[in-house]
Amino acid sequence: MSKAKVGVNGYGTIGKRVAAAVSKQEDMEVVGVTKTKPNFEARSAADRGFDIYVPEESLRAFEDADIPVKGTIRELCGAAEIIVDCTPGGIGRKYKAEYESAGIKAIFQGGEDHSLTGISFNSTANYSESWGAQFSRVVSCNTTGLLRTLSPIDRKIKIKAVYATLIRRATDPGDSKSGPVNGLEPTVKLPTHHGPDVKSVMPWLNINTMAVKASTTLMHLHTVAVEMEKESGTEDILEIMRSSPRVRLINSKSGLKGTAEIMEFGKDLGRDRSDMYEIVVWEDGVKAVGNMLYYYQAIHQESDVVPENVDCIRSMCKLEEDAHTSVSKTNRSLGIN
Ligand code: NAD
Repeated sequence: MSKAKVGVNGYGTIGKRVAAAVSKQEDMEVVGVTKTKPNFEARSAADRGFDIYVPEESLRAFEDADIPVKGTIRELCGAAEIIVDCTPGGIGRKYKAEYESAGIKAIFQGGEDHSLTGISFNSTANYSESWGAQFSRVVSCNTTGLLRTLSPIDRKIKIKAVYATLIRRATDPGDSKSGPVNGLEPTVKLPTHHGPDVKSVMPWLNINTMAVKASTTLMHLHTVAVEMEKESGTEDILEIMRSSPRVRLINSKSGLKGTAEIMEFGKDLGRDRSDMYEIVVWEDGVKAVGNMLYYYQAIHQESDVVPENVDCIRSMCKLEEDAHTSVSKTNRSLGIN
């Protein structure tokens, strides 16, 4: 079977992880990644053996820095059958015409609006909606987190309403430009955009979100209150979560009290870049009372969307029709149980 030829545009936090994950799959290969500046990330991409493509105006700078370049971003669009666009939010939109004129497929990330593609993707909730599509969009890290736990609950026990508060990391660990470095910043425009983003995949869901930016870089943390259509027991909910893909139940009594310990645990797992791809739920923090359900979940923003991008490639390139099989293949390759 020939492998799907994948290009990664934007080799930053998400792009470098997507490139590494794609190169671990048997049914797809990375034909190139793009960089705009000849910085340390460009050098590390070259050291990892990725072919580098750059904007035409950057060719000279890469030559001066002695970083080998295979071609221009336009040429990568000629070599790939699908681009995973991991450029910063709002930039992907500008590349859409280029992908269209090259006649190739593209996946955008959560920094772009749903209206850009008309289809948004989550492996658990709607794998088949991107089947054969030219354009799709993997929803943001927070939205992926909400969908991973809410969609199996909604499937088993109908959900009447969701009220979630997102405590968001200020920036990523590798970024020293953004903040806050001290304090908590509420998002005052309510409800926040996260609820509508969940609805781009589950349009029927009544979900309301608030958000607070906190001076941490490790993970996001959600407090989730769910009004269910009928009463359910805590153990029934835990059973649903245990069988949900890419949801990891932990117990605070094992020492995993907060996001610091979870990321330390991620390092102990020995995965690439210490990534915690699963949504982490404290089992001793799950509580059903009548038809209300309460839980906490932690999201490793740098990596939870990575396996979804791999599954989205499979759906769009028609490599695997069954969502469950694709999720299993991706999980096995990334060491997700
Ligand atoms: P990033 O800034 O870490 O990486 C973006 C990369 O794109 C950088 O290497 C940058 O040099 C490159 N780039 C900038 N302009 C470019 C251009 N014109 N052409 C080609 N490359 C260009 O950003 P990120 O955090 O990886 O985010 C990428 C996308 O993923 C965004 O849509 C973001 O919203 C989404 N996302 C981010 C996170 C997160 O927490 N970091 C989580 C989920 C989704």
